[in-house]
Amino acid sequence: MSHPAIVTSEAALHANVAAVQERIAAAARRVDRDPADVRLLPVTKTVHDERIAWLGTTGLELVGENKVQEALGKADALARAGLRWAMIGHLQTNKARHAVGAAAELHSLDDLRLAEALDRRLQAIGEGLDVFVQVNSSGEASKSGLAPDDVAAFVAALAPFTSLRVRGLMTLAVFSDDRELVAACFERMRDVQERLRQDVDADGFAELSMGMSGDYELAIEHGATTVRVGEGIFGPRGTGPGVPSGGAR
Ligand SMILES: *Cc1c(COP(=O)(O)O)cnc(C)c1O
Repeated sequence: MSHPAIVTSEAALHANVAAVQERIAAAARRVDRDPADVRLLPVTKTVHDERIAWLGTTGLELVGENKVQEALGKADALARAGLRWAMIGHLQTNKARHAVGAAAELHSLDDLRLAEALDRRLQAIGEGLDVFVQVNSSGEASKSGLAPDDVAAFVAALAPFTSLRVRGLMTLAVFSDDRELVAACFERMRDVQERLRQDVDADGFAELSMGMSGDYELAIEHGATTVRVGEGIFGPRGTGPGVPSGGAR
């Protein structure tokens, strides 16, 4: 899938968001799902203040960030735009305290020490946090997340950490042009979800955070409830208003 050109105006950003939402709705309808059951999470990593302000006028309320320091640096711009942020990238245990009270959701929980550190901080301030357990659905060594077979034991071990509300599962599918390989990752997620519902909580784990710019329609056809879309909304990362030259990634 080709990405839109770099966004240089509020109107262009709104058009891109509308186009993505239309594709989300069309993908949902193809599999008889209600488009309202799929949430668009715009990914604002490397996106700077001006475009964040434009995003604030779309009516969207939550964005994804993959680095705590970057998100904290953008806290004012996000707040001014009326946006909260979800942590979608790997979170080191020694940075847990920075995310607590700042991130509205955590999509990348895959470590019990991290869970413990988060819970300790959350208990201290009397708050809870919506979390997604990250699963390595492709088996690639480069990817974070639990092996599918380890998820049930991990979820059971989270029980003492009562401030963490496990909403569901998150994954990054294999990055490939082979749609069947990508779809197999999403199907693996549904299997893991099904097993959890049988063994742990029949009504739980409703959320599947999966699908990015290149594969979100396929993810929706395979049950995604949250899609995390960056370049499909903002255009290629590392260019555009507010991006220091050489600050690309
Ligand atoms: C960057 C990122 C995305 C969005 O990627 P795009 O290809 O720009 O849509 C989604 N999820 C995670 C965890 C990311 O880091």
